Amino acid sequence: MIGGREPGGFGAAARGLQAQVDASTLDERPGWGASSRLAAPGGPIEPGREAGRSMMRDLALLPKAHLHLHFTGSMRMATLLELADQQGIRMARGLAEPAAMHLSPDERGWFRFQRLYDSARQAVRGEAAMRRIVREAALDDAAEGSGRLELQIDPTSYAPHVGGITPALEIVMDEARAASAATGVEVALVVAASRLRHPLEARTLARLAVRHAGDGPGQVVGFGLSNDERRGDTDEFAPAFAIARAAGLAAVPHGGELLGPDHVHRLVRSLKPDRLGHGVRAIEHPAVMRELVADGIVLELCPLSNVALGIYPGPAAVPIRPLLEAGAQVTLNADDPLVFGSRLLAQYEMLRLVHGFSDAELAGLAACSVRASRARDATKRRLLDGIGRWLAR
Ligand SMILES: [Zn+2]
Repeated sequence: MIGGREPGGFGAAARGLQAQVDASTLDERPGWGASSRLAAPGGPIEPGREAGRSMMRDLALLPKAHLHLHFTGSMRMATLLELADQQGIRMARGLAEPAAMHLSPDERGWFRFQRLYDSARQAVRGEAAMRRIVREAALDDAAEGSGRLELQIDPTSYAPHVGGITPALEIVMDEARAASAATGVEVALVVAASRLRHPLEARTLARLAVRHAGDGPGQVVGFGLSNDERRGDTDEFAPAFAIARAAGLAAVPHGGELLGPDHVHRLVRSLKPDRLGHGVRAIEHPAVMRELVADGIVLELCPLSNVALGIYPGPAAVPIRPLLEAGAQVTLNADDPLVFGSRLLAQYEMLRLVHGFSDAELAGLAACSVRASRARDATKRRLLDGIGRWLAR
């Protein structure tokens, strides 16, 4: 059920679409992520057929890279409920109903998100569950046309159940290798530190990431910084990022979502990111925007997360065109489908349906995601060729 919930939440998302989308079709869907086929007035949109003003190609067949997806947040709801049941854990109310998740961008809103996320994390206790999450993330990405997934994990949370942060990371790496071979989606890893923990711990994680760095499937390609952007002192994490960058890892901290352009500027100066998790609010200050563009920093946009967290009142308000017009390199990502209720494909569909993006523009975003990935050149070429073929159909 997407409509009829709290004002400004996913209900608003549905209302924004009503001119173009049959609400009765949306009603049976949990949020944006359940299907790649939304209906248009006069019947469902047939991929490859003329529908409305332009040719609609099947976005699930558009090759793309997925650069911002969290390990726990990638979990299928059914998997979480099964794991929680096995552990005898009662899930926090609201987690099983992602479409109802609307939070305000205040402490309480973030707290609620964090509480839901933490209760999901508690259900992941041991190697079998960890392997299952990686495998299913790869399968779900494969079904949505992703050919490259850079999955973000803070191994600290799972360490107690498997004998430490090193085994926790190695389990995920091993399964990422196996899942890459099985699904055709190259799965690489981003090790992320938490802003809520001591910066020394971030350095330990950066060194762990460096020891497992590489450009093959299952290896670590980046170092991130996650959790509540308003907590911790960004500058204190600079030494951890210096360790990661010196070893050739991509610096991919979160920022510019809960806080505005001032914080983006600070992140850019002290952590020297290659890509910024979100970064969407850089648009609020032209000088900060120019800085991002001049430094070639890629934005890992997660538009439906921004809406679910209440940063913007609805999908139409996410400033994607202004970011592109300012020269930003923009990629689309799912972030935490478990709590926000939308996967990767839903982000592309939303841009098509709400922002009127053409197939050529969507292909441009997909190409940007491939180029901004840390995949080997041969993989990038293969995916970019696929994007060209998709557009030539
Ligand atoms: Zn994130």
